[in-house]
Amino acid sequence: MLNASVPGEPTARTVPLLSVVIPIYNEQEALPLTVERLRPILDGLEVEYEVVGVDDGSTDATPVLMQKIRQDWPEFRTVRFARNSGHQAALTAGIHRAFGDYVVSIDADLQDPPEKIPEMLSLAREQSLDIVYGVRGDRGTDTFFKRRTAGTYYWLMRKLVGKRMPNQAGDYRLLSRAAVDALKAMPEHQPVYRLLVPWLGFPSGEVVYTREERVAGSTHYPLSKMVRLALDSVTNFSASPLRLATWLGLLSFFVCIAMAVYTTVAYALGSTVPGWSSLFIGMLFIGAVQLICTGLLGEYVGRIYSAVQARPAYFVGYDSAEDDGSAEPRR
Ligand code: UDP
Ligand code: MG
Repeated sequence: MLNASVPGEPTARTVPLLSVVIPIYNEQEALPLTVERLRPILDGLEVEYEVVGVDDGSTDATPVLMQKIRQDWPEFRTVRFARNSGHQAALTAGIHRAFGDYVVSIDADLQDPPEKIPEMLSLAREQSLDIVYGVRGDRGTDTFFKRRTAGTYYWLMRKLVGKRMPNQAGDYRLLSRAAVDALKAMPEHQPVYRLLVPWLGFPSGEVVYTREERVAGSTHYPLSKMVRLALDSVTNFSASPLRLATWLGLLSFFVCIAMAVYTTVAYALGSTVPGWSSLFIGMLFIGAVQLICTGLLGEYVGRIYSAVQARPAYFVGYDSAEDDGSAEPRR
């Protein structure tokens, strides 16, 4: 909420308890319905809040609509991207710009029911949790294709991040200020929050909800964007694909040895064309050496990548010095 501004002074802000971040891309049909349902819920909480609507370079009437909403709803802040940069980028901008002690991210199409926000907030406050995941209990309204691809995605991601990642937890979640600050400390280029948040390992809880049907408009996640998200997720958390070259190189090396034995025997028996054996073995050998060298380069590239990501090596959850009232180092 904005305070009354003093002339000549920059506008002062009080810290709202809750920020609700909404990535919005070409949602002219869905947005008014979302606002209509969200506003009474947030007003009913009787705490200070703000809504950060991030317009991800919409090309329809969404920007005009957002201005209109803002005139009528002072708690609704708008951030506008110059061009479409993707759902995760819009989430990043919203989370980085939110002022609240708690930050909830929610889609603009009412697939995530906003009625769960009060539950998330009270769970986090009562149990001192840093993360509350919205877990999709029922995806009956999603298409068969979406359910299958999502099922495979979560299975693979749980292999990469481990069981800490709740199954079927999307981008409807609550983060505490501590979790937001930890995420902000990571200069990741393309953060994938549904993996990065469980990776933090902060105390977390879950709120189960039913994934509803999109209220209006159509999905902005075509197959190409789903593949992009899956690729970003894998490359963000694993250097294993780089290792593929090493394994292929080793495989062709063993094939090379087997073929060397075979062609030598064939040569001894005189059943080959002159020059075939040496040419064949040479070709396999060079192929194997090249693949192994590429794999070796991959190992170094993987290390450079992880250094560039510069993720903190650890997050301290508890330090007894804080209890002793001596968090400042004693010299
Ligand atoms: N979205 C976005 N940028 C994009 C695509 C989507 O900000 O490039 C927003 C969209 O407006 C919605 C949320 O991200 O609020 C989820 O997108 P969508 O509902 O299309 O995905 P689905 O629910 O079908 O996976
Ligand atoms: Mg949706």
